[in-house]
Amino acid sequence: MRLQFSAAIATLLLVHSAAYTEEPKLELRQSPCDSSSSQALGDWQARSRKTLAELLHMDDQIAADRPDAQGRSPLPLNVEVLKREACNGYERCLLQIDSRPDRKIQVVLTVPGNATPGKTPAVVCIHGHGGNLDIVYDTKSVYCGFARTLAENGFVTLSTNVGQHETQSPQRTLMGERLWDLIRVVDLAVSRPEVDPGRIGCAGLSLGGEMAMWLGAMDTRIHATVSSGFLTNMENLRKGHCPCWDFPGLQNRYEFSDIYSLICPRALQCQNGSLERLPGGFPVDLAEKAMAEIKKAYRTAGQEQAAQLAVHGAGHVFDVPSGIAFLKANLN
Ligand SMILES: [Zn+2]
Repeated sequence: MRLQFSAAIATLLLVHSAAYTEEPKLELRQSPCDSSSSQALGDWQARSRKTLAELLHMDDQIAADRPDAQGRSPLPLNVEVLKREACNGYERCLLQIDSRPDRKIQVVLTVPGNATPGKTPAVVCIHGHGGNLDIVYDTKSVYCGFARTLAENGFVTLSTNVGQHETQSPQRTLMGERLWDLIRVVDLAVSRPEVDPGRIGCAGLSLGGEMAMWLGAMDTRIHATVSSGFLTNMENLRKGHCPCWDFPGLQNRYEFSDIYSLICPRALQCQNGSLERLPGGFPVDLAEKAMAEIKKAYRTAGQEQAAQLAVHGAGHVFDVPSGIAFLKANLN
């Protein structure tokens, strides 16, 4: 009896230790945002951008891409126009540009008919899982055509594809390739004669809200960020979300609120719908907790009003009225 009992305990311990070996304990959030003073915040931001660029395997690209005082990149874009059409008050082009010398990407660019040279605001519009560069203009989609509304309201808009789940180059990361493509879309925006480089924003829903977070965090040429349907914590996403948000080293160091804190003191709107539910969704209560963390940085920077959580009455959709009002207020 005693022998059987000991054997059972030993088996249990073995099973437990095997499970433990397969899933090593993750030391979480070891480099949280330091908002103890504005100096500490600035130092933490500079350090964290450098660390994240290394973790994303894009530090060599950032080092090579040193924008001038106007934010213009020295890397050639080699723009090719694939299609051009007149729309309601704006022109819409399908372009191809070089993201890297060995990587070409397609970009939708819309330019208002009455665009004033050097004075026009621009917004990078970003789709989510299962979408593509056209869908953010579709009024019948979950994006509610927010990019089309911006195009019709005097903004230059730009959109590219970020939904791939394979890396092109083995030495890159998926998130790093997606983000670098978006940085190159900002390079394209800054190169346009009608665009005011001081009035560039980004906006997206779901994976697009996540990529808007990354673009606002890592590219300080972005002056206003709308991140819709994404503000949450990593614990929520560990419970069954598509794992493409993660990469080695991220969870050890940061929470999403920390990545958003890299946008401080620039304008930030997060949108969450009151009909979002767990599991799989981005509910308001988790977003409120994360926004309280983000606000610590904005308070230290003396810019508490620059960050806001816009709660709307729908589910996992882009709320066009609050998003457009925010971009108009911060980019016009
Ligand atoms: Zn994914």
